[in-house]
Amino acid sequence: MKIEVIYDDIYKFHSSKRYHVENPSRLEKALSALKGFEVRFTKPYKIEDPQIIHSEDYVNLVRKSSELEDELDADTYTNKKTYEVALYALGGALKALEVNGIALVRPPGHHAGINGKALGAPTLGFCIFNNVAYPIKKLRLKRVAIIDFDVHYGNGTQEIFYDDPEVLHIDIHQDPRTIYPGTGYPDMVGKGEAEGTKVNLLIPPLGGDDLYDELFPIIHSILDDFRPSVLAFSAGFDAYKNDGLASLNVTEYTYYNFGRLGMNFPRRYTVLEGGYSTGLVNGLRAFLEGLTGIEKDYRQFKSSDSVKSRFMNYLSEERNILRKYWSI
Ligand SMILES: [Zn+2]
Repeated sequence: MKIEVIYDDIYKFHSSKRYHVENPSRLEKALSALKGFEVRFTKPYKIEDPQIIHSEDYVNLVRKSSELEDELDADTYTNKKTYEVALYALGGALKALEVNGIALVRPPGHHAGINGKALGAPTLGFCIFNNVAYPIKKLRLKRVAIIDFDVHYGNGTQEIFYDDPEVLHIDIHQDPRTIYPGTGYPDMVGKGEAEGTKVNLLIPPLGGDDLYDELFPIIHSILDDFRPSVLAFSAGFDAYKNDGLASLNVTEYTYYNFGRLGMNFPRRYTVLEGGYSTGLVNGLRAFLEGLTGIEKDYRQFKSSDSVKSRFMNYLSEERNILRKYWSI
């Protein structure tokens, strides 16, 4: 099966004068993961209306900061090209929806909320505009399920859709007590009519594939209940063992299973979030194998007993919350 990849070299033009882990070489790694697949490349759109997801003030702040090559905060830099590149990143996500493809974009987006920093986060976490949110807002999509498996909580995305019952957001991330952005607990379930449609599932530090394996049946049950018309992946590969920014031990096994989740889905798109070294190559490749239905038999990395028992405690709390809304 051919993979539709949305990419443009413009995504490399956002860069920092000083070393930064979120840099253009990430895309070289991501592109190298495509080796061996049948791929068709498509160019992204350039978007002119970022204010359909972000406040006017925030959009102006990014434009100004970009003109001045300022830092938006201690984590998040801009250069002269950042504003334009970020518009193309939004357009990459939109194009990905049109062709059921994967947008290999920078800068990433899932930490960017309505006014920038979201839900109490200390910084924007390298993100500029929220790419995965854009097609949903632009086309007023109904019944969308976003699966965010980046190791960090997609606080920006969750904030944008917090009161929107049409968007199911399932976010699997490392325990926020131990990692940026420090929020994303299971009791954050959405508000008003959207209550229950925001799902946060936690993995303790040093957790591996066996823990994710416990989550997949829950994710499947929720998707069966919600019956999305569109499936979106906020695809970060930084939970991969030794990728660099986190403390999880995820391997090909889990990324392959995330890919399988989208395999038979008629309308879907994937947007690149994090992933900084080996995860971006090995994790992305395994995800694409799963997505395209290639048979693989990866070995599972098992967590220690103490890590697993901490996870099971989280899981029982999560189940108690989820049972109110879903037939899990
Ligand atoms: Zn991340």
